[in-house]
Amino acid sequence: MERNSEEMKNKEKIKNGIVFGKFYPLHIGHVDFIQKAVGMVDNLYVTVCTDKERDINLFKESKMKKMPTAQDRIKFLEQTFKYQDNIKILHLNEEGIPSYPNGWKGWSDRVRELLLKNNIKIDTIFTNETQDVENYRKNFINLNDVKEIFNNELEIITTDIARNNFRISATEIRRNPYENWIFIPKYVRRFFALKVAIIGSENAGKTNLTHKLANYFNTSFAREHRKEFIKNHSKILGYEDYNQIVHKQNQEIINSVKNSNKISIMDTEYLTLQTYSLIDTGKENKEIQKFIKNSNFDIIIYIDKNNNSRFDNQLKKLLEKYNIKYFILPFNKKKNNFTEVYNKSTEIIENYIGK
Ligand code: NAD
Repeated sequence: MERNSEEMKNKEKIKNGIVFGKFYPLHIGHVDFIQKAVGMVDNLYVTVCTDKERDINLFKESKMKKMPTAQDRIKFLEQTFKYQDNIKILHLNEEGIPSYPNGWKGWSDRVRELLLKNNIKIDTIFTNETQDVENYRKNFINLNDVKEIFNNELEIITTDIARNNFRISATEIRRNPYENWIFIPKYVRRFFALKVAIIGSENAGKTNLTHKLANYFNTSFAREHRKEFIKNHSKILGYEDYNQIVHKQNQEIINSVKNSNKISIMDTEYLTLQTYSLIDTGKENKEIQKFIKNSNFDIIIYIDKNNNSRFDNQLKKLLEKYNIKYFILPFNKKKNNFTEVYNKSTEIIENYIGK
């Protein structure tokens, strides 16, 4: 009994704060806001608010190439704050509530449910929206069970209403993530990074173009792992070798994306690997097939020697089979051809990112 009341007292001493936001997507302004807020409390609950229909519409109005799901948005926060244990991420589903600012009553009820379910009592709300301060007070204070979920001296604190520290909004990021790259936290960058693959047969200049593009865009690239594998192992590759190669190739691609600056250049992808596998072993490799089905390259540039080789014919069949769109750049031994291919490639990529 005594111990319980001691625990209760200790619990009362702990100060909990909360922040609400769409974080669609998380940007450095949010990160700074959250880090300032957490320094004023013991625990900070960062609540990601989602509404499928609204979020799809915001995506349609945006220039984002793919839509971050609710789970992606939660993960952006979890990863960014993974070394700050007192920042805890919650999810609030807003579906069915009239949209902001017309649904304060229903929205406050959802907040109440969430806090009760997680046994959380809040002392401080942090926001940088001045128009919300009074609404939080008015709506939360009238809730049932208010004493269980809010301190009766509930504070509402703003830290940077004018966004002086980082002049950025999620609307701006959605308008063009690539123009606002400097405001995107590193774990979120990985989501938006574009994957460009250079494909074609041997001696078409793929590796050389990969290095040139990585330099031009000041970014990372993924090496062709099959080449490395052949250097270190036997020159005749079997089915099992391709199982290993595809996993290593995938790791190369993941690492390259992690270190990328807006785009990452891949010296080969899974269809090229499958083509080699078909030629070397006579059959499609099942492991590579899985990667092909899950792959999502944004741009594929095919340097085509147009020599009707077995490799090119096979690669083209696979591109057709999996319905993959690609740009063809003809290769020939003319003096300026390498520069033509280089210029065309930079143009394709810049057009895609909207420069
Ligand atoms: P947001 O992700 O845009 O912002 C989250 C917080 O970060 C806000 O306090 C904002 O002021 C702050 N912030 C943003 N950019 C900043 C910067 N550069 N520097 C410093 N601080 C910055 O989220 P939001 O749109 O404010 O999210 C509020 C959520 O609450 C929405 O999902 C909304 O639907 C919901 N809500 C709904 C109702 C309703 O009536 N249905 C009522 C209240 C709240």
